[in-house]
Parts: sequence; structure tokens; C-alpha cells
Amino acid sequence: MKLRLSRVHHPVTALGPGTRIGIWTKGCAIACPGCASRDTWDADEQDEVDVADVLAWCATTDPTLVTGVTITGGEPSEQPEALTALVTGLDAFRCDHDWDVLCYTGVEHDEFAARCPDVPGLIDALVTGPYRAGRPTDLVWRGSANQRLIPLGERGHDRYQRWVDARSDRPSLQLHVEDDRVWLIGVPRAGDLARLQRTLGRRGIALEGPSWRP
Ligand code: SF4
Repeated sequence: MKLRLSRVHHPVTALGPGTRIGIWTKGCAIACPGCASRDTWDADEQDEVDVADVLAWCATTDPTLVTGVTITGGEPSEQPEALTALVTGLDAFRCDHDWDVLCYTGVEHDEFAARCPDVPGLIDALVTGPYRAGRPTDLVWRGSANQRLIPLGERGHDRYQRWVDARSDRPSLQLHVEDDRVWLIGVPRAGDLARLQRTLGRRGIALEGPSWRP
């Protein structure tokens, strides 16, 4: 089974509770104006990888340093078979890894369930809805006020119910530098991306092609 993949990363501390694995899928036709992940929109065949390889990489992480897996994108529900294979594989690891699965989607819960009918029980929480630039929010892990955090199942309610209405006065963001690339992990708020670019510029780091720009 092939998955169009943008990247994987560990540790991720800005997209869900605890210390997590992050999996960014590739391809999103929703095209929200102001999306901070424009680099994940194109659905290129060259980005296809084996789900088995992604799972094998996940298995190499120290289980004591992983509380969960966050799947985002891109739009994960545009690859329903691959997403199902991925979360089925992650579920099989749960005997050794006490991790939960949080999935971001730009569609609402009903639409996600229709697109991905085989994932119930395998995903513990969803963040749903498109990014709306005109609706800022201080809800944790969400970019706009319309987006909902929905716990699913017992594990989901145990771990996520407390976060449904949780707010923070600062965004949860993480920078990761790899070779000549700076990756921003998390959900930026209005002005954060321009502020980041200015701050890096003051330190002599010029971004040649910010991926959040059209
Ligand atoms: S915010 Fe999410 S759903 Fe919207 S365009 Fe970006 S990747 Fe797609």
C-alpha cells in the first residue's frame, strides 16, 4: 500500500499532547486561503512511499519517548486506503507502545467518516474543519475558531476530553532545522509566520522560498 508522504518527524511537541511522532501526508484539494502548509498541497506520485516503511520507521522510535502519533497534511482523508493501512499498522503496535492517534482533517466529522469508513476505533481524536483565516482562535492545536477537537472512543475521551475547550495565550510551535531547511511544526496564529521570517532575518537567516506563500 502506497502513501503520498511529505515528511515524518519525532519528537513533535506542538501538535497534540505529550511527545509525538508526526506524519504529514501529501495532497490537499481543499486549498484554504492562508494555509500554512501549502508545500503539502500537490499530490505527486513521486512522493509515494510504502506504508510498511513508514510503520517500520515509527517502530524504531523509543516507545518511552512517544505518547502518540499525529497525522496531518495535506489532507489525510484524500488517501483513505493508505490512511486505513497506516492506522491499522499503528494499532498493531499498541501492545508495545501506549500511543494514541490524533488526525487532522480539513473536512467535518461526517464527511471524514464517509471518506474513511474503516478507521473507527483506530483514531482516538480528530481535529476537523478547514482553516478560516478570518476566525482566529486561542483554542489549543487549532488554527481557527471553527475547527473542532473531537475525542473518539475510550482512549480518545481519556486523553483528549480535557483539551476540547482548552485555550492558551500563546501558540504551540516548534522549529526544526534540517540541512538547509527550517520546518515549522504546530499551528501558527495570525502574524506568526511573518514574525518568524523577520526574526530569522535579524539573525542572518534568509528564507528563500517560504512554503506558506503562494
Ligand atoms: S489548512 Fe489543511 S485542509 Fe486547509 S488547505 Fe491547508 S492542509 Fe488543506
